[in-house]
Amino acid sequence: MPFLSSKGRKPRSARRARKPMQDNWQKIPRGRWLKCTYEKCGHEWQYFGGRKWAECPACHSIVKVAVAQRNYYRSS
Ligand SMILES: [Zn+2]
Repeated sequence: MPFLSSKGRKPRSARRARKPMQDNWQKIPRGRWLKCTYEKCGHEWQYFGGRKWAECPACHSIVKVAVAQRNYYRSS
């Protein structure tokens, strides 16, 4: 089937003309790995909330998700 070819993406028109996405796909919980930005802690955990701020489960300081995420990927 040509439309199933894995090479490249479909043209925009073809993608937009699709019917609404089927919603019976399994939802994969997208966690984000964070590393506490408090330097004495540095705890790493996976955050499943969709907010901009997260509480470190180890030292209970509130860290910004974007910063903590960058902190995690930079240190690993
Ligand atoms: Zn911490």
